[in-house]
Amino acid sequence: MQNAAFKAAHLPWLYLPLDITQDQVETALDLMKDLPVKGANVTVPYKGVVLPYLDNVEKDARWLGSVNTIYRSGRKLCGTSTDGEGFLRSLGSIRQKLKRSRGLMVGAGGAAKAVAGALAKSGIGSLYLANRTPARAKQLAKSLRNRYRSLEVGLVSISEAEKILPNCDWVVQATSVGLKKGDPSPLSLKRATTSLWVIDLIYHRETAFRRQAKDLGLRNLDGVGMLLHQGALSFELWTGKRAPLRVMRRALLNSLG
Ligand code: NDP
Repeated sequence: MQNAAFKAAHLPWLYLPLDITQDQVETALDLMKDLPVKGANVTVPYKGVVLPYLDNVEKDARWLGSVNTIYRSGRKLCGTSTDGEGFLRSLGSIRQKLKRSRGLMVGAGGAAKAVAGALAKSGIGSLYLANRTPARAKQLAKSLRNRYRSLEVGLVSISEAEKILPNCDWVVQATSVGLKKGDPSPLSLKRATTSLWVIDLIYHRETAFRRQAKDLGLRNLDGVGMLLHQGALSFELWTGKRAPLRVMRRALLNSLG
């Protein structure tokens, strides 16, 4: 996706995977400083590990404890997270309807925090959180309440979450359930009303969760748009140019098969 974008923008740049171990992170970042490297993406499990080695980490990324994009400012390496804004951009016209809306997030990991933070910033009214490990959801709720004072955050179990679906405008599936073929849906959507928006962050296959939404005739999105837009935002930070979205989407869909 990034290489296709560089080509379309006539930049003689190359985006390469760098397969490193955790104890090589510092060396990799030192090398980045010395070599004419324009930037990098950071992926699982190093999104949090890189923070102490960067010269500057933007406020939102510091709150998330997660950096997915490194860009340069002179010799300095700066870190940010484009995941949250990438998610919002992937929503298209739904984004205009978020103000004071009510929704449910299933999951409380890194992606859930980035998306919940972005939704809170967009002015949603209330958010219910449900997670397999309740302590993790409680921690996320605390962090959200401290940062977004006007946001109502409720904690629910999975079975309670299924019952409150009729009160929700949207539901975001932010667990890793569905990554593997044959994974079940982490939530039943049987009680949902037809106006519910169903968003699954998983992007490389149609999950049981999303299939359920389709079968029930609910409007739904997968995580491809978020993946595309977080990458497009990285491209814009590195190049100062507008991302060639159409080219990037085509390359991304080709690589996802
Ligand atoms: P984390 O490991 O940080 O969090 C995983 C989440 O999934 C936790 O809430 C965890 O619950 C839950 N979970 C894992 N296994 C189970 C299970 N068997 N049953 C119920 N819950 C489970 O991962 P991330 O937050 O980084 O990623 C989550 C998902 O989001 C992934 O599928 C990833 O592919 C997707 N993603 C998509 C992006 C995109 O651009 N579209 C970007 C980033 C992520 P618990 O706390 O109980 O362990």
